[in-house]
Amino acid sequence: MAQSKSAEILVAGGGIGGLSAALALALKGRRVRVLEKASEFGEIGYGIQMGPNVYPILERLGVFKRMAPHVVYPDALVLADGITGTELSRINLGPRFQARFNHPYFVVHRRDLHGSILEACRARDEIALEASKGLAKFNQDGARVLVSCEDGSEYEGVALIGADGLWSPTRAAVVADGPPRLAGHYVYRGLVPTEEIIDRRYLDSMVIYIGHHLHLVQYRLRGGTVMNNVATIESVRFQRGEPNCGDPQELEEIFAQCTPRVRDMLRYISRERNWVLHDRDPVTNWTNGRVTLLGDAAHPTLQYLAQGACMAIEDAAVLAAEVARHGDDFSRAFLAYQQQRMNRTARVVISARFFGHFIHAGGGARALRNELLAQRSPDEPWEADWLYKGIELPE
Ligand SMILES: Cc1cc2nc3c(=O)[nH]c(=O)nc-3n(C[C@H](O)[C@H](O)[C@H](O)COP(=O)(O)OP(=O)(O)OC[C@H]3O[C@@H](n4cnc5c(N)ncnc54)[C@H](O)[C@@H]3O)c2cc1C
Repeated sequence: MAQSKSAEILVAGGGIGGLSAALALALKGRRVRVLEKASEFGEIGYGIQMGPNVYPILERLGVFKRMAPHVVYPDALVLADGITGTELSRINLGPRFQARFNHPYFVVHRRDLHGSILEACRARDEIALEASKGLAKFNQDGARVLVSCEDGSEYEGVALIGADGLWSPTRAAVVADGPPRLAGHYVYRGLVPTEEIIDRRYLDSMVIYIGHHLHLVQYRLRGGTVMNNVATIESVRFQRGEPNCGDPQELEEIFAQCTPRVRDMLRYISRERNWVLHDRDPVTNWTNGRVTLLGDAAHPTLQYLAQGACMAIEDAAVLAAEVARHGDDFSRAFLAYQQQRMNRTARVVISARFFGHFIHAGGGARALRNELLAQRSPDEPWEADWLYKGIELPE
């Protein structure tokens, strides 16, 4: 028997995107039920970068003030050549940056961000949160959506938002475009106490060492007490169709080109687990009637612009505004939301691929890359205007 909560909007997935959507909808007076597949609502224990484009949304959701004590504001974004160690370019993130984009760039532990959104959701009577509820399938008619979960339970709602991530079963039903694209890029992470960091020249900044088929990012979290380290490789074995792509040995092999100072930083990286990167070619429709997608389910991107979660949070704000504008006409609301989000998110996906290619350049392309980076102005990062100036936030 379906558990009848007919005026509820159902959200599949309680990650950053799904919870932001639930909160944004609740603030517009909507009742929402979040169905999360995992046995607990949570996030992995590493950092995340947040552009100035999401700051006003997190403020409006009442999330920023909850996580503010944990947030770190790096003083600059530095790109350095991993082979020589030389600084290639920097974007200062101080007052001029904040004046240009109206808001700061910040970094935060994923659990502090997700935990703050979760806490804000728990404080709202309009939101019900259920763990161990993996969406298995759904049906819709003109008035409602019926969701069946993997454990056999059923939920009825007036609409369904698939915020169920990269492998979204909601997407499989709505877009039916098969699995995401395997990029052949692999990520290793590590979080260590800041006092363990030997090379301390960029302690207050966010630094990215770039090399052929690799980069390594470092920034501090949690009041500066811990250092987040992320090493990414573009697997050569993957390109050649060989086995053991992106394994710890290949990580070492690709980083062997780096200056000893950078190579040594692999000591901060855990080899226990890696993340296999995927994205998708942008599509022109991720909505079907009363069902739509959000975040990675709709437009998964490589992380090279550090904007996947930012896009999910922007999605949530636009979606809630369109639902508020269209009353109970969810089909129209969802199409209007999609229309506003399609090209911006497609630009992030395509630009992230390009930027990854650019920073991972080798040979002659590396020389060109370094020359172009040297021409960047530290205080006039105009090339980020389209992204960091953000979206117009409807009331
Ligand atoms: C290495 C790396 C670095 C990144 N760095 C940044 C960064 O600095 N800044 C940034 O903005 N973004 C970054 N991203 C991207 C960001 O992590 C994602 O875009 C973001 O987490 C997507 O959020 P989401 O809620 O859409 O999906 P997810 O976080 O994947 O959440 C989906 C949720 O749905 C649940 N779920 C899955 N299947 C079902 C089901 N059948 N039913 C119900 N629930 C289900 C999952 O358990 C999960 O909780 C990075 C990504 C990577 C890989």
